[in-house]
Amino acid sequence: MAMLLSGNQALARGMYEYGGEFASAYPGTPSTEILQVIAKFFKDDVYAEWAVNEKVALEVAVGASYGGARTLAAMKHVGLNVAADAFMTLSYTGVGAGLIIVSADDPSLHSSQNEQDNRYYGKMASVPVLEPSTSQEAKDFVKIGFEISEQFDTPVILRLTTRICHAKGLVEIGERKTVENKGFERNIEKYVMVPAYAAKRHKLVIERLEKLKEYAETSEINYIEWNDKKIGIITGAIAYQHAREAMPDASILKLGMGYPLPIKKIREFASKVDRLFVVEELEGFYEEIIAAEGIKVEGKKFFSNHMELNVDRVRKGFIEAGVLDSSVMPESVETESVLPRPPVLCSGCPHRGIMVALKKAGVYTNGDIGCYTLGALPPLNQIDSCLCMGASIGNAFGIERAGKTEKKAVALIGDSTFLHSGITALASVVYNGGTTTNIIVDNRITAMTGGQDNPSTSKTLMGDAVEPVNLAEICRAVGVKHVREVDPYDVDESYKVLKEELDREAVSVIITNRPCMLFPKKIKDEPYTVEADNCIACGACFNVGCPSISISEETNEKGRPKAVIDEYTCTGCTICAQVCPVDAIVKIES
Ligand code: SF4
Ligand code: SF4
Repeated sequence: MAMLLSGNQALARGMYEYGGEFASAYPGTPSTEILQVIAKFFKDDVYAEWAVNEKVALEVAVGASYGGARTLAAMKHVGLNVAADAFMTLSYTGVGAGLIIVSADDPSLHSSQNEQDNRYYGKMASVPVLEPSTSQEAKDFVKIGFEISEQFDTPVILRLTTRICHAKGLVEIGERKTVENKGFERNIEKYVMVPAYAAKRHKLVIERLEKLKEYAETSEINYIEWNDKKIGIITGAIAYQHAREAMPDASILKLGMGYPLPIKKIREFASKVDRLFVVEELEGFYEEIIAAEGIKVEGKKFFSNHMELNVDRVRKGFIEAGVLDSSVMPESVETESVLPRPPVLCSGCPHRGIMVALKKAGVYTNGDIGCYTLGALPPLNQIDSCLCMGASIGNAFGIERAGKTEKKAVALIGDSTFLHSGITALASVVYNGGTTTNIIVDNRITAMTGGQDNPSTSKTLMGDAVEPVNLAEICRAVGVKHVREVDPYDVDESYKVLKEELDREAVSVIITNRPCMLFPKKIKDEPYTVEADNCIACGACFNVGCPSISISEETNEKGRPKAVIDEYTCTGCTICAQVCPVDAIVKIES
């Protein structure tokens, strides 16, 4: 039987079918659904949990693997940066039962802060990288990944990209097959990475890589499709599909294993084609390795490493290379022009009130990764930096320490991100005598990735009720003496508390206490409306950036537009009413 599945769903199915027993992740687009699907459909056979960050997800997964369970740790590409400390030495210890690390890379930055290509992590750690091109392969490569992991005593990176994660394709469904679970076997020289043992293990890693290279030569997932031999293309992942469509007559060497590469097979392929190209998304990873072997190859000159590839971009590259006629380019299709809508915080978002207060206070706001990053955009314009998960607190402290900036710098971080990697930075600020003001916008959910639970909510991924962690107590425990809670829907109070803490010559934390509008269930209070006769068209309410407020057809005497509120999307959060200087915004009485 075949089912239409996304790559993420197929991968989760692979965990079920190929005897996976444990999965851990921190949510991050485009990988988030993998764990959600496991928890929803396969919970009786595969245990799944959210970790506070990717490093912890991998560390727990490593423990489960050492303990004998086939295991998966899933993360988006930047998550592997967080997990890299554990990952690099995991390459030395090897595994117990099969261990797959999903790296979901995001070319074109659909929902990310950079476009990094995580195949390089495989090379850096001497760890094999598998790269599926379809949903079927996303499932099949779980089996192959577990087998490689166990045969070669290595973790395996299963590298997806956004198109593979989210596009759907037919997948053959099979039964679950379990493998024998040996449990943890004590082996100090393998699992305890003190220098003497690590040095020995590094030698084994070098030898392992040679064996993996031999495996790559014979593996069925690296195969040649012979066609016209004038043009040969080496490709993999989603780029294989684009290359196949753009150059249907060319011969293709399709790489399912993106690292290490089958150099003998590549050399043989290269010797039989007149001109050899590499088509790969993001960096010239294959191209560099192949060129370093002295094989004449072309690639990134024609297929930029900036943004996703698609069939048209690949066609254009081959036209530029002089091997494709420009007449193959299809006529451009007229696309319907839709009104551009900038991303904004939802109507009634609890972060809006604190943004308005920050704007009034006139501070530099070091943001973090979360919905509140949207506050960087007009009309709020209230996020001044955003680097990576957990960086806001350190960034704000650094600006303070540099001592060259008159305005005070504050940090703005969400509950999930604070637990992910904000705590350590806060402890460091306290330890080093900082005086920054840090705001934890506690909406009690991981909102940006679609509403996942975390330790500050009260439920696990498997649905079990738990006691939420106490963020204020954590802050006090790392030494913050001034921890205050504020209702972000009360703009005046938020501003007052913010001012007091900004004036304080000591580190402080303000925690906002309103849940996300959309999770766990949509909040909808009585909507508000604008009394047009009273509106003076001052524009103050437009500046709160609420998508429910727009300009009315009515204008004031100077021709400036008055405001109007869409009562169907207004949630009654009251923030616009609080900023209106003439009380023209009032509740609609039911
Ligand atoms: S999802 Fe929740 S936290 Fe995110 S912008 Fe919407 S209301 Fe705000
Ligand atoms: S803040 Fe009040 S007066 Fe100003 S535009 Fe909005 S509704 Fe009109």
